[in-house]
Amino acid sequence: MLETTEDILARLIAFPTVSSESNLEMMRWIADLLDPLGANVELFEDASGTKANMFATLGPDIPGGIVLSGHTDVVPVTDQAWSSDPFEMVARDGLLYGRGTCDMKGFIAATLALAGSLSRRTLTRPVHLCFTHDEEVGCMGARALVPELKRRGYAPTMAIIGEPTEMRIIEGHKGCCEYTCRFHGLEGHGSAPERGVNAVGYAVRYVTRLMQLAEALKGRAPLDSRFDPPWTTVSVGRLHGGVAHNVIPGLAELEWEMRPVQAGDAGFVKDALNAFVETELLPEMRRIHPEARIDTQVIGEVAGLEPMSDNAARDLVAHLTGSNACDVVPFGTEAGLFQEMGLSVVVCGPGSIAQAHKPDEFIARTQLAECIGMLEGVARSVSA
Ligand SMILES: [Zn+2]
Repeated sequence: MLETTEDILARLIAFPTVSSESNLEMMRWIADLLDPLGANVELFEDASGTKANMFATLGPDIPGGIVLSGHTDVVPVTDQAWSSDPFEMVARDGLLYGRGTCDMKGFIAATLALAGSLSRRTLTRPVHLCFTHDEEVGCMGARALVPELKRRGYAPTMAIIGEPTEMRIIEGHKGCCEYTCRFHGLEGHGSAPERGVNAVGYAVRYVTRLMQLAEALKGRAPLDSRFDPPWTTVSVGRLHGGVAHNVIPGLAELEWEMRPVQAGDAGFVKDALNAFVETELLPEMRRIHPEARIDTQVIGEVAGLEPMSDNAARDLVAHLTGSNACDVVPFGTEAGLFQEMGLSVVVCGPGSIAQAHKPDEFIARTQLAECIGMLEGVARSVSA
């Protein structure tokens, strides 16, 4: 199966599915590979009609079963010095080079190779291959797909997300939420501050409230949290506003992020901010200028993967890989979205995150072989 996986991987690498580009050609190629194997292939196009998610099922049309999930998009190669064409796979010394080899077409290729072997087995439970678009830019594909699967009555019980973990078992990661706030005040002459609405001043008060909440979050960290740091963090990344010393700034822009360790923390922060804006900042701003406003734009809200004591997916992968060490990682994945859907979820895939997003990205053949071993175990676990 390693040879088949490598052949498929070479084909997948040749589709330059950078997040800004269409992935349809690659999805059609995958569909053509899965159709003859008797898979039920569903494509879900996005509103632009240039991207699609795929959900392909092998085995019986019943609830339950295992989702094997990977994203089809890759990060750009612009301004990176590659030793060879990033979209043509090259093998050197047991390493396979190309954009997306480890993040994460290697895993997708292994699941497609597995599909061939699944089609020859009698399956008692379905195996769902789930391939998404736009993971690298805020998990947009999975965010659209998960509710759609629910609506269509799919009810898998567990999911393995094959992000590069060097086949280590990852049962948790923080979420990642990014926001841009725009404070619209009223410009005026610096000599008469009370006649204007100082957008920078209000932005600073908002930041101060954020910093207070950042402190409060430390006290909310779960006692058994294994994250570093153990609590939900808030960080201000950019604050910009104003033109000169003597002008009251009418506009200020604030970019900030939050990395929740538990779903409740995001709500805690948002509720506190809303209350602060509605009861303090806006009434004051609007006393001077009724049109004053604060707009918050959600740049991305990627749910975290909360470690659970009860996790069938983790237990299965631990059994199959013979490892019982589970870990948490600092990078986000689509796993939290599947967890929200009620699945037990684990992140485990071939290749190292150290090579992801870098020039000369590669995956080791030994990693693909380990992944195939795990996937063959998955196949046995759902076979008659
Ligand atoms: Zn990835």
